Amino acid sequence: MNPEVVLTADRTLMSDHHGSEFLGFGTCIPAYPLPMSVYQRLFFPPMKNEFGVPKAAPYGLRKVEAILLKNGFNVTVVDPDHLEWYLQNADVLAISVMDPFGWGPASSTFMGLLNKGEVFASIFFKKLLNSEVVKQAKKDGLKILVGGPGSWEFRYAHEFLDENGIDCVVTGEVEIDLPIIIKKLVGGDSTLPKILDVHTVPELEEIPEIVAPSVNGLVEVGRGCPRGCKFCEVALRKLRWCPLDKIEKEILANTRNGQYAGIIHAEDVPLYGVQGVKPDIDKLIPLFELFAKHYEHVSWSHASVAAVSACPDAVEKASEIFLEGGKQRWFGAEVGIETGSPALIKKAMPAKAKPFKAKEWPEIVKNSLGIMHDNSLVPACTLITGLPDETENDVIKTIELLDDIKRYRALIVPLFFVPMGKLKNRDWFSPEQLSDSQKELLKKCLANGVYWAKDLAKGYNKGHLYSPIVNRSLLTFVGLLEFISKRKGLIQ
Ligand code: SF4
Repeated sequence: MNPEVVLTADRTLMSDHHGSEFLGFGTCIPAYPLPMSVYQRLFFPPMKNEFGVPKAAPYGLRKVEAILLKNGFNVTVVDPDHLEWYLQNADVLAISVMDPFGWGPASSTFMGLLNKGEVFASIFFKKLLNSEVVKQAKKDGLKILVGGPGSWEFRYAHEFLDENGIDCVVTGEVEIDLPIIIKKLVGGDSTLPKILDVHTVPELEEIPEIVAPSVNGLVEVGRGCPRGCKFCEVALRKLRWCPLDKIEKEILANTRNGQYAGIIHAEDVPLYGVQGVKPDIDKLIPLFELFAKHYEHVSWSHASVAAVSACPDAVEKASEIFLEGGKQRWFGAEVGIETGSPALIKKAMPAKAKPFKAKEWPEIVKNSLGIMHDNSLVPACTLITGLPDETENDVIKTIELLDDIKRYRALIVPLFFVPMGKLKNRDWFSPEQLSDSQKELLKKCLANGVYWAKDLAKGYNKGHLYSPIVNRSLLTFVGLLEFISKRKGLIQ
C-alpha cells in the first residue's frame, strides 16, 4: 500500500494575498515597524478552509497533489494551522517552500536595506516546522520532505536539515521521480540523499492536471524559457507549451470550485505556443479567449519587454479580450527589465532582447512600457543590481532608463544579485557593497514605487475584484513606506 501523504505550505504561501499577486511581495519584508499581525492581515490573510482543507493552495502543491493521486497515493492538502488531526495517520509531510530562509532576491534586498529582523516567509516556514504538532508527529515516525521553488536555499543550510527534522529536500521537476522518492523515504532507503537534485524532464503528457483550485486561479500554460539569463534557474529548463485542452481542465478545476479570477502562468506569456522568441498572435488569441471565457478577471504572471515590443498586438488583444464587459479595468504581469545597459544585457542575458539586438535594449524597454501603459497592463518590473559583471557605467545606464520610463504606470522592484542558475557559484551581493550610484538607483525605484502605488491604490485599481481590501492594504503600506523613506531622507 502507498504511504499516506499530507501536503502543506507555511502561512505566507497558504493565502490568496487578497487576490493580488503584487501583495505577495509583502511576505518578503521583515516585521518592521508595525506588529506582525498587522502585516499578516495586509499581505497574507489565512486561506478559507473547511475542516482544515484549504479552499485553494499554491499551484506547485496542487501539482504535487495531482502527481500523487495519479500514482495511487492517499493525499490531502492541509492548512498549516490545522495539521494536528491529519498528521495522526500520515507517513509523510511534504512542505512546499518559496523562500524558506529569506535568501531569495526580493527578501535579501528588503532585508539588506532595512537591516531589521527576519522576513515573514522565513519566520512562518520555521514556525511551521517547529510547531508542537509537527514535532510530536516527527517523534512518532513522520518523514518530512521539502520541495518547491525555494528549495535551492537548502544548498547553503545543510545543518538546518538535521537540526529541524527534515529528511529530504527535492529540487527540480518531480513529476516522474516523486512517487519513488516518497516510497524510498518511508522505507528508510539509505541511498536517498538529504538534498536531491532531480534532473528528469517530464514530457507534457507526463504532467498531470491539477484537480482543485490554485491560489488566485493560477494555471500553468508553459514551462521553461528560451532567453537563457545566466542568473536564472528557469533558464536551465526545457521549453514546453501546454495545449489548450490541458489548460482548460485546470481552469475548470478552479471555476467548478468557485474561483473566477485567474492568472495565465508562463515565464513569458506572449511566447505561448512558439519555440523561438517571436510571439504568434494566432496562438495567443485562442489562449486569451479561453481564459476570458471561464474567468471574470485574468492577469499574466510574466512577460518580457522584448516579446511585447515584437508583438504589440499581444498586449492590445489581451486588453481588449480581458477588459470587455467592464468587470476588469486593468491586468498585471511581472516584467524583468533588470538593467538599462546593453553591455550588461549582452554579457549576462544573451537572449533577453531577442528578436532585437542587445544594443537596442533601452528602446525596447521604453517602447514596451508605453504599449503596456496604453493598454492597461500594469507591470511589476524587476531590476537587478550587483551582477558579477556589472560596472559603474551599467548602473548609470539603468538610472538613465529609470528617468525615461517614470511616466509609465509600473511598479519597479530593485533586487540584489543572488547566485543562482549558471552564476550559482559566484559571490552574493550585499548592501555594504552598494556604490553611490547604486544607492541613487534604489532611491529612484523607491520614489517611483511610492508614486505609482498610490495611483493604483487611489483610483486606477477601482473595479478590481478585491479592490476595497487591496486598495486599503496598498494605501496603508505605501503610506508607511513613504513615511519611513522621508524620515530617512531617501525620498523627498
Ligand atoms: S527571461 Fe526571465 S525566466 Fe527567462 S531566463 Fe531570463 S530571467 Fe529567467
